[in-house]
Amino acid sequence: MRILLVEDEKKIASFIKRGLTEQHYTVDVAGDGDEGLYLAQINPYDLMVLDIMLPGRDGFAVCRELRQQNNEMPILMLTARDDVQDKVYGLDSGADDYLTKPFAFDEFLARVRVLLRRNQGQKSTLHKVADLELDQISRTVTRAGTPIDLTATEYALLEYLMIHAGQVVTRTMISEHVWHQDFDSFSNVINVYVNYVRKKVDAEYPKKLIHSVRGRGYMVKE
Ligand code: CA
Repeated sequence: MRILLVEDEKKIASFIKRGLTEQHYTVDVAGDGDEGLYLAQINPYDLMVLDIMLPGRDGFAVCRELRQQNNEMPILMLTARDDVQDKVYGLDSGADDYLTKPFAFDEFLARVRVLLRRNQGQKSTLHKVADLELDQISRTVTRAGTPIDLTATEYALLEYLMIHAGQVVTRTMISEHVWHQDFDSFSNVINVYVNYVRKKVDAEYPKKLIHSVRGRGYMVKE
């Protein structure tokens, strides 16, 4: 899952980015409202975390502009002020949720998960394909009950495939939702990582679950 964080205070931005990255999310950071708006227009993010007080366009203006352009990406607003008017104005600008700084990071992560699930139309955080299970809360993967140890990138890739189980996931989708902005989708990095994941998930089992779809991409299915 790929998240755009728009936050001008460098310390807070790096704190949030580090916390999200530890949870295996891919994070791009914009330091002001105009850059945030630009990045949101050119990349298909799964979620935006948007500070209100920003140089250039503020968070309200960024949010309104995106909604006017029919961009329906979930937006979680952050503010330093615990002010009811701000919350009302933020939600009326088109934000999906609202959190006051300073916040407990666990609560922040829970709200991020809710918005991502809602966006994917999924209610469950547990994904099952045959005997392969992925738990988005504990970030654990098991096959036939045996834990599988994945790196951050391998997990992010498998999570994306599992959320879209039964659907073709193209290389473009993977490069846009699993990797960073500067990722080169023409390199063979995706193939390399799919092979790493296959080795861990499929190699020892007769029934293969990660399939290549010729000329299109990959699919996880029974
Ligand atoms: Ca700020």
